[in-house]
Amino acid sequence: MIAENTHMKKRASRRSARGGRALLTGLARCGRCGRMMRVNYGMRAGHAHRYYCRGDEAHVGAFRCIGIGGIRIDKAVAAAILEAVSEHAVEAAVRAAQQTSRAGNDARRALACELEEARYDASLAARRYEVVDPTKRLVARELEARWNAALERVAHLEERAALLDREVASRPAIDQTQLMTLARDLPAAWNAPGTDMRTKQRLTRILIQEVVIDLDDNTNEAVATVHWTGGRHTELRVARVNVGRYPSGQHFSAVEVMRKLGGQWPDRELAVTMNRMRCKSPDGKTWTTVRVTELRERLGIAPFDPVASHAETISVEEASRRLGIYGSSIHRLIREGILPATQLMPSAPWQVPVAELESEAVREGVRAIKERRPPHFKARQEAEKSLKLPGF
Ligand SMILES: [Zn+2]
Repeated sequence: MIAENTHMKKRASRRSARGGRALLTGLARCGRCGRMMRVNYGMRAGHAHRYYCRGDEAHVGAFRCIGIGGIRIDKAVAAAILEAVSEHAVEAAVRAAQQTSRAGNDARRALACELEEARYDASLAARRYEVVDPTKRLVARELEARWNAALERVAHLEERAALLDREVASRPAIDQTQLMTLARDLPAAWNAPGTDMRTKQRLTRILIQEVVIDLDDNTNEAVATVHWTGGRHTELRVARVNVGRYPSGQHFSAVEVMRKLGGQWPDRELAVTMNRMRCKSPDGKTWTTVRVTELRERLGIAPFDPVASHAETISVEEASRRLGIYGSSIHRLIREGILPATQLMPSAPWQVPVAELESEAVREGVRAIKERRPPHFKARQEAEKSLKLPGF
């Protein structure tokens, strides 16, 4: 038996499918504070979307709760859907949805009967009041009170009926044939270019009540708990993009790193990165700019060109300069999913999209960081400024 009653409250805050690139728009709930998560589509077209929770907005100075890249989560959920869904499962889910709407119709019919009765009572009370002898004041007053009460009951029931009607109207209409066709050949249909996001969202909405997203800091994974229609739960674990920390048990050779990062960053920056990644150098020594240059030239990789590339992305240092906060704060914004930066590979320098610096989320994050600065920060900042040479 598929009971949706337990989900009624939660469903109230689910939002309808509205297109967009996020599969779980309106379905993702924050595992930390229980609020519905929002989708940030980034500033540029084609940019990865993110799910984030703003936390307690009413609380002044509250920081963002959690944020997570949307693409991996969506992929994992889609894979779970393809794995879990058979034709039979879709049929069951559609039947459950129909049952809910039938139950709604029953309630509406019962309410209509009640309303009819109440209206009759009210008209009766009105007539009694009209025929009373006006000299019998006490009786008249009593009858008037009853008439009023009857009218109030009618108004109350009418309100409930209207509410129920609105609820029924807002329920998504299910095209069973279309869905069954989709389910029959789901993997192919899902990935077909003709299947638009709206259709996928609609199917997801029928199969899934909501997805609770939390972060496991110990394993650096996102944990998405899928609440299927019908009460089953599935826990999905999605590896997060590593932030700065060197992933244990993952070792890249110097050649691998060079092929990925060579020419993307100055050799000096690559030397720092390769030391951080503990790449072995030919003679077992630390990497220097000279050694990196040698290796790069041996592999036939062009040197870094500061003019040609990176017009759209900047380094953490540059972002820190432009936003007026420490590099560690930039890393923190990245870690918390507010600033969507990318790495070519784990431990590589972050590439921060310039356009993202202007986003509302980042502005808000920077403001929060600045607000929480200790009083001595300004003095320290001034001291730092005076240490720097003019023009730097
Ligand atoms: Zn939250």
